[in-house]
Amino acid sequence: MTRQRKAIIELFEENKNQALNAEMIHHSIGNSLMNLSTVYRTMDKLSEIGLVQRITINTVVHYCLSNSEHRHFMLCTNCKKLVPIHCFLKKFLPTLEVENDFLITSHDITILGLCSTCKNIVE
Ligand SMILES: [Zn+2]
Ligand SMILES: [Zn+2]
Repeated sequence: MTRQRKAIIELFEENKNQALNAEMIHHSIGNSLMNLSTVYRTMDKLSEIGLVQRITINTVVHYCLSNSEHRHFMLCTNCKKLVPIHCFLKKFLPTLEVENDFLITSHDITILGLCSTCKNIVE
């Protein structure tokens, strides 16, 4: 495993419940170890070998560890903070499948709003 991959995996392990996009990863690890295009390439590799999974949050690709629990995020539209939330939809999926004669293979929900800090300063 390259030094870059090791640094990225360690970053994800320190932020277990979080989803991170390439810019967040680049920002946290710093320019000295890798530039942004290296981050993109490394993330492609890591998802190819199944160590991370992609999740799209508000049209931006994010990554989280493959073995992390299925969850969704609330995105603060002001500071871009992500708040992980448990999947509240799971129990409705079987009913939706029956009612609509539809085989659901995945779902994707992001809740947008203002976090605890921003709701007090943004009008
Ligand atoms: Zn915020
Ligand atoms: Zn879910």
